[in-house]
Amino acid sequence: MRPAITEHDVAVIGAGVVGCAIARRLERAGLDVVLLDARGDVGDGTSKANTAILHTGFDTVPGSLESTLVTTGYKLLAEHAASAGIAVEPCGALLVAWDEEQDAALGDIRDKAIANGYLDAAIIDADEVVRREPHLGPGSRRGLEVPGESIIDPWSVSLSFAIEALRGGATIALGREVRGVEAVGDVHQLLLDDGATLRARWTINVGGLRSDEIHRMFGHHSFTVTPRRGQLLVFDKLARPLLNEILLPVPTERTKGVLVSPTVFGNVLLGPTAEDLDDIGDTASTEDGIAALLDAGRRVLPALLSEEVTAIYAGLRAATEHRDFQIESHPSERYVCVGGIRSTGLTASMAIAEHVAGLLAVAGESTEHGRELDATIVMPPLGETQRRPARDAALIERNPAYGRIVCHCEQVSAGEVFDALRSELPPSDLDGLRRRTRACNGRCQGFYCSTEILALADAAGLDLDPLGWSR
Ligand SMILES: Cc1cc2nc3c(=O)[nH]c(=O)nc-3n(C[C@H](O)[C@H](O)[C@H](O)COP(=O)(O)OP(=O)(O)OC[C@H]3O[C@@H](n4cnc5c(N)ncnc54)[C@H](O)[C@@H]3O)c2cc1C
Repeated sequence: MRPAITEHDVAVIGAGVVGCAIARRLERAGLDVVLLDARGDVGDGTSKANTAILHTGFDTVPGSLESTLVTTGYKLLAEHAASAGIAVEPCGALLVAWDEEQDAALGDIRDKAIANGYLDAAIIDADEVVRREPHLGPGSRRGLEVPGESIIDPWSVSLSFAIEALRGGATIALGREVRGVEAVGDVHQLLLDDGATLRARWTINVGGLRSDEIHRMFGHHSFTVTPRRGQLLVFDKLARPLLNEILLPVPTERTKGVLVSPTVFGNVLLGPTAEDLDDIGDTASTEDGIAALLDAGRRVLPALLSEEVTAIYAGLRAATEHRDFQIESHPSERYVCVGGIRSTGLTASMAIAEHVAGLLAVAGESTEHGRELDATIVMPPLGETQRRPARDAALIERNPAYGRIVCHCEQVSAGEVFDALRSELPPSDLDGLRRRTRACNGRCQGFYCSTEILALADAAGLDLDPLGWSR
């Protein structure tokens, strides 16, 4: 016998950063939303493995939907992060030219920024480039400064949206894969992997790498996802003084290229690669990929290569045969596809959610902001420049658990681990706990602390999967 059917106004398939933003937005409009994901946590797909830049949109294709949504999303997410206590560092970026051809391209890139409504990009001369970034390798030429580019804590963004949706009354169904869809009168009946069914008047497909597969379930074939892998190296915090801002290469038609960027956690990132694959699960790191990154890093910031690598990870962009986001509304079917959200989805997430609300409104749904939360959400301060609990004497005085360090590399206290374990959206594995607290994110990668942390989880009655450790 099939388990009981639940009924909702809207089913959002995919709890990445974009799906969480949409669920939060539609829940606020007073709709009854269910947010589904095949994985055991929110933000556990591409949304957990990116370069974490809050983009101004200066280099998007002018006039594209992506350009509009990144520009708007930048402002919306900066405001949300400020109100929710999510770490953002407005460090700015410097796009550096390394040969004559790249130097000649700077003017066009600045013009593109202007066409995208971003007016603060400016060309600076070669001496100024070196003055600003004294550790650059030899041979740098002029640069384009983009002061608005920022770095952000990417993990807290998805979580904050999901928690706000949950507090507003949304249902979050994790570990539930949608395998098929049937039309039953005016509603969609979604068939889940465990044999359960779920009904919704509207379905929003935010399936990331599988958005094309879900699109086909609804009878549409307008795009195919080709996963584009981006491998990244994370350098130890001792590398952080080597750069003052995000160091960008001159982009090509296909990719933004390999950058060197600080993170809000105090590390330095080198990456990503851009490799088109067949397998949507292939997040492996490869010898060739790492060699290519080291070559690129050696030219830009030679001293970086003498620093320790703390971690290596890869994320898969949901690239398609089209340049732009694949957002399609099919009002007569009460279906919206939000696919092909490739390289800028973290930044654009809140604007995409507004856009989807607009599409539903055009179809006759009332999606104006109705409900507001009673209290503003406050996320744990994970940023290196934020006041972290273990440095807060008054907090420790009130609760000594915040002074008991369990992860020494990242200075994470037992109090923070308890908070995450007991939260309304607890982690299902150690990786999820890492994204909520930074525990096991440092030099030892959990070698010294994971046993104690798993014991804390056990004591709190949570059976965390220690093998769920796929960055
Ligand atoms: C290397 C790299 C660097 C990037 N850098 C940046 C950056 O600096 N700034 C920026 O703004 N963006 C960046 N991005 C892009 C950004 O990470 C993505 O655009 C964004 O995470 C996409 O979010 P999403 O919610 O669309 O997809 P995802 O996060 O992939 O979520 C989709 C979810 O759908 C679920 N799902 C799929 N099929 C089903 C099903 N049948 N049933 C149930 N659930 C299903 C999956 O389990 C998954 O959790 C980068 C991406 C990569 C790979």
